[in-house]
Amino acid sequence: MITSDFTIIGGGVVGLAAALEMKQRYSDASVLIIEKEERCGLHASGRNSGVLHAGFYYDADSLKARFVREGNRLMKEFCEERKLPLNRCGKLVVARSEADFAGLDELLRRGNANGVRLMEVTEAEAREIEPRARTHVRALYSPDTATVDPHTVVAEMAAESERRGIRILTGARYLARAGKALRTSAGEIGTGYTVNAAGLYADRIARDFGFGLDYRIVPFKGLYLYSSGSPGEFRACIYPVPDLGNPFLGVHITVGHAGQAKIGPTAIPCLWREQYGGLQGFSASEAADVGAGLLGLLRSGGTGFVRLAAGEIRKHSRRTLAAQAARLATGIEATAFRRWGEPGIRAQLVRRGDRRLVMDFCLEGDEQSLHILNAVSPAFTCARAFAAYVASEIEARTTAA
Ligand SMILES: Cc1cc2nc3c(=O)[nH]c(=O)nc-3n(C[C@H](O)[C@H](O)[C@H](O)COP(=O)(O)OP(=O)(O)OC[C@H]3O[C@@H](n4cnc5c(N)ncnc54)[C@H](O)[C@@H]3O)c2cc1C
Repeated sequence: MITSDFTIIGGGVVGLAAALEMKQRYSDASVLIIEKEERCGLHASGRNSGVLHAGFYYDADSLKARFVREGNRLMKEFCEERKLPLNRCGKLVVARSEADFAGLDELLRRGNANGVRLMEVTEAEAREIEPRARTHVRALYSPDTATVDPHTVVAEMAAESERRGIRILTGARYLARAGKALRTSAGEIGTGYTVNAAGLYADRIARDFGFGLDYRIVPFKGLYLYSSGSPGEFRACIYPVPDLGNPFLGVHITVGHAGQAKIGPTAIPCLWREQYGGLQGFSASEAADVGAGLLGLLRSGGTGFVRLAAGEIRKHSRRTLAAQAARLATGIEATAFRRWGEPGIRAQLVRRGDRRLVMDFCLEGDEQSLHILNAVSPAFTCARAFAAYVASEIEARTTAA
């Protein structure tokens, strides 16, 4: 039987960052990552917008606010040290009308509270930063927003883990608990401490350990449309003022790590966790569980959630998505955005009691296991800084026991 002092379930950015942090703190301890796929980062960590967020969307008292600024710095440092692609493109948040001014003010207030560099700019200044930006009277500029290639970052984190003596067992799916051990598709694993960083499956695994009982994950699919224009057609990312009552940032224009532009993403509710396309990954039991979560949201969210879901489903249309992006920038034509990128699925946590979408990261655990629930955006940006917190939470739980 394989044994390990720390076993991390899930080789996404959160699991890899946690493993690296544990190995740094306890160099003599054995650290093992089990990943059900053949490679790390095949789910959200490799299928996201690749934006290193600056940190002005989040309430000052949230975990997201606590880790995003430092996470952004650490990720940039990681990319620069290893010469991985990094585009310090910055971001404009634009106003579509006067109705967006209150939202801009709130973002500015949050940015200041979180110690983030965020400048208020005029319409003319916004156009100097990004000549194609459309804004009404004013906008916000975030110089610290940047973009990376998430696949490359995750691959390098996996390589770095192995260099430091962390074992990564791919093709090994956690199946169940077997006393103090874990039953996996690669055999039984004896573990001193288990960290559940299983993304879309984190709620199910947590339940095996008696945690996460108040929550369930509802998956939301994000699709992007790629521009056929030349890299560099946009200098900066352009975002709308989001509805701060839901965790999605709205359709935006992202300038990728190599300068290519994409619009999206959508946030379309899925019927099962890995519903990337067709019937791939279909499971009837999952569909029943996820369906129950969606029904709950429909009932409790009333017209609010119905409107959100209906609006998101409409974005499946290229024309609708392009029309929304055209409100942010000049010269956006649906004909120039023909290629859908690979979809990513958010592991969005929903509270069972009030059936609300959970906005912040969420951790539960004890002296034997820790469960990372709701590692949604900006968990990619936060990962390195958040991992230090995860390690401290483990330390606190194991030393108290
Ligand atoms: C469309 C989209 C856009 C986003 N944009 C951004 C962005 O611009 N910036 C940002 O900071 N964040 C963004 N995010 C969020 C970010 O991608 C996630 O927060 C982050 O990747 C979560 O990482 P993770 O390691 O928790 O999850 P994952 O990457 O999903 O990793 C979990 C891993 O666990 C494995 N696993 C699951 N079950 C088991 C099992 N039973 N046994 C073994 N292994 C298992 C999976 O195969 C997977 O590899 C976006 C997300 C999406 C979907």
